[in-house]
Amino acid sequence: MSLSRPQPRPGVLSISAYVPGKSGAPGVAKVFKLSSNESPIGPSPRALEAYKGVAAHLEDYPDGAATRLREAIAGVYGLDPDRIVCGAGSDDLLNLIARAYLADGDEAIHSQYGFLVYPIATMGTGAKPVSVPEKDLTTDVDGILAAVTPRTKVIFLANPNNPTGTYIPYDEVKRLHRGLRPDILLVLDAAYAEYVGRNDYSTGLELVAESENVVMCRTFSKIHALAALRLGWMVGPAHVVDAVNRVRGPFNVNAPAIEAGIAAVQDAEHIERSRAHNDRWLPWLTEEIGKLGLTVTPSVANFLLIHFPGTNGKTAQAADAFLTTRGLVLRAVASYGLPGALRMSIGTEEANRLVVQALGEFMAA
Ligand SMILES: *Cc1c(COP(=O)(O)O)cnc(C)c1O
Repeated sequence: MSLSRPQPRPGVLSISAYVPGKSGAPGVAKVFKLSSNESPIGPSPRALEAYKGVAAHLEDYPDGAATRLREAIAGVYGLDPDRIVCGAGSDDLLNLIARAYLADGDEAIHSQYGFLVYPIATMGTGAKPVSVPEKDLTTDVDGILAAVTPRTKVIFLANPNNPTGTYIPYDEVKRLHRGLRPDILLVLDAAYAEYVGRNDYSTGLELVAESENVVMCRTFSKIHALAALRLGWMVGPAHVVDAVNRVRGPFNVNAPAIEAGIAAVQDAEHIERSRAHNDRWLPWLTEEIGKLGLTVTPSVANFLLIHFPGTNGKTAQAADAFLTTRGLVLRAVASYGLPGALRMSIGTEEANRLVVQALGEFMAA
């Protein structure tokens, strides 16, 4: 290899850069962005107010330890604030975990249709992402356990998963944990936890509290509707928190995010309003889209995965193009290995009804 110019570390050039859901529909006046699982309800008015309040003090560095935010989160969830780390989105935290625990030659496991940030964060460290096939678009615990090797250091588990919308019950999470060596870090990514209305689901906080090798990551981008501010948090054992804090940027969370986050996490009423909206439209969309002859993967999150037959021109790609002409922007998930499907975020009532109408016309054409 020519060394006539700087070379990135091994693995970096194997990364396919993350391509976010598209946000526009050229030439269409009114656009409904249903491609990034953002909240149709928007953030808490109290969070907006807190955000604006910071404008008068932009010359000041934020509190690098995000102490008041960690205390607010700890208060809501009954946690020790010293066990919490905040990040610029859970993205930041997933990358910090990878940086702290992975090196050249190590392996990190994720499930087949797992969040694309996991392999990206893994490869950035020189470690190898190991993808484990799913069963019925659902995480396969036995498959993950079988994929563990002496080099495995981290398991990334999105529960519920994006883009499938499926989840595994807490018993399965615990079974996965029981089957792991104690030196393997289990990362539970519960970005959509607030939307899940199943008795057998748990974010895994109890497991975090009882173990030395489990962390849970959460985000303010989904139900709290603060995606633009980039804010997430994780909770873990003291030794993991210590390691992550050592590689963390000293001011990785900005002051507007801290203030808005404190207000958002404490606004239970607003969270409930957002959850209620989802509870109403998730089953409605699943049923109405199903009636059109399309398969919808049963989802517990704030989005659903729609599968197209692929015959007679009824492909996901054609549907995407047709919906886009109507200003309905969904998420193509070919990059996740699902070329026959589109992911739709639950939108406003207007957006949801328009999607069903447009899909009906697309299928009938
Ligand atoms: C949206 C999402 C997140 C949140 O990412 P942020 O960086 O906090 O915006 C985390 N994990 C999964 C699986 C997601 O879909």
